[in-house]
Amino acid sequence: MITIRNISGDNVEIKQGDLTALSGLTRGVIFKPGDPGYDESRAVWNGMIDRRPGLIIRCIGAADVVTCVRFARERNLQICIRGGGHNIAGLAVSDDALMLDMRHAKGVHVDGEKRIAYCQAGCTLGDVDRDTQLHGLAAVLGFVSNTGITGLTLGGGFGYMTRRFGWTSDNVNSIELVTADGQLRRVSEQQSPDLFWALRGGGGNFGVVTEIEYELYPVGPEIIGGGIAWRFEDAPAVFELLREINATAPPEMACVGALRRAPPAPWLPPEVHGELIAAIFVCDTGNIEEAEKRAEQLKSFGKPVGDVIMRRPYVGQQSLLDPTQPDGRRYYWKSEYLPAQEEDMCATLIRHAEKIQSPHSAILLFPLHGALGDLPTEHSAVGNRGTHSVFNIAASWDEPADDERNIRWARDAWQELRRFSTGGTYVNFLTDEEGEDRIREAYGDNLDRLMELKRKYDPDNFFRTNKNIPV
Ligand SMILES: Cc1cc2nc3c(=O)[nH]c(=O)nc-3n(C[C@H](O)[C@H](O)[C@H](O)COP(=O)(O)OP(=O)(O)OC[C@H]3O[C@@H](n4cnc5c(N)ncnc54)[C@H](O)[C@@H]3O)c2cc1C
Repeated sequence: MITIRNISGDNVEIKQGDLTALSGLTRGVIFKPGDPGYDESRAVWNGMIDRRPGLIIRCIGAADVVTCVRFARERNLQICIRGGGHNIAGLAVSDDALMLDMRHAKGVHVDGEKRIAYCQAGCTLGDVDRDTQLHGLAAVLGFVSNTGITGLTLGGGFGYMTRRFGWTSDNVNSIELVTADGQLRRVSEQQSPDLFWALRGGGGNFGVVTEIEYELYPVGPEIIGGGIAWRFEDAPAVFELLREINATAPPEMACVGALRRAPPAPWLPPEVHGELIAAIFVCDTGNIEEAEKRAEQLKSFGKPVGDVIMRRPYVGQQSLLDPTQPDGRRYYWKSEYLPAQEEDMCATLIRHAEKIQSPHSAILLFPLHGALGDLPTEHSAVGNRGTHSVFNIAASWDEPADDERNIRWARDAWQELRRFSTGGTYVNFLTDEEGEDRIREAYGDNLDRLMELKRKYDPDNFFRTNKNIPV
């Protein structure tokens, strides 16, 4: 017997006839608990998440999504939506819900002349990069190639090109989605501009996205990128270098600071494996000769223990950090937006890096300042346009027995670092236990308008397995 929880919290039995009818109307496969494929479909990137949906439907296209939303609405069923499954809080999966698994909706259509790409909602960043690079173009996406485009874009999204072009969501021309009334709509600045405003930051609160249209920019195929690492004793000087470069380099050059134990990667000598290091990951999408010259500032600094900054394909750059983020490990994050890269803040980051509890954990500092500030806070729901950078205390470990000490490490560091915050935080980095207060911090003054639009487009809070906008 299949039961699915409804939005009042009661279990509803799904009759075999209804299931057969649903199956006939959808192109994708349906998985019941116990079916081969059920466990694979509910497993997400964060191994801390172990939730069991009542039923999973693989949606291949918009028609499947319309069918599923209508099926759920008629019965008041709770749904959850899986994109790339990379959300730290595991928002893609909910116990006893009807799960729409979008991962197989992976079409990418690039119009090279107009410099736009239409991407189905199940694409990963890598799916989009590979096809857009065939045209020498790229969308403004994030740092790890197997992250889902939809979760990332709906929360704002940032990556190596954010300093040049702003949030990922600033570079979206239109979004196709199925709203709570079961209707398929395409929204843009011209069509339902209020809903389009909400979708660019408001997460999965407003519907099931089926396609995103991105603006593209000429990039690559080769760029200057890679990583460079120094011994941990050089960390204060390395972070000062990072501050200086971020203050003076053009927005084409993005440098991410990292503090962690050296992984056993081939580009790092065996004698530093397991030792604390300070590293900078760089991607410069500007003119390649000029980018090469700019990289010299990094390459000639001090005595690096490893340096793989070089000409490389943009697609390769975009997956450089993938091996550090494997599926199924245990993860816990704490993060804040920063108004500046203060010396005292860097010293605090470094002090907490010394207490790292796992060889996989890292403290990361991403630059955001630049094009974000070209638009007003109220341009779209994501806001936070005065942000200089964002830190992420990224705890990562293997064994459940180590949960407590790794989580404590991240929380302790965050408690001390909060005083440097703008008061805002990135909605896509919020963990499971971060609720109403943190959602308010993520949206600031834009929350009130988001609440109004939630009441207009989803008054029953049908879309609730997300960082929920109160109705
Ligand atoms: C390793 C790693 C690297 C990351 N790097 C970056 C980065 O560089 N830049 C950045 O900005 N963020 C980054 N993130 C954060 C990322 O943006 C969020 O985790 C985001 O939620 C991931 O989207 P997803 O589709 O993979 O997630 P999922 O877990 O599948 O979904 C996340 C949320 O989005 C909703 N959602 C997904 N698909 C749809 C849909 N079709 N319609 C409506 N709602 C949907 C889900 O319901 C859920 O609420 C990273 C995360 C990880 C784990």
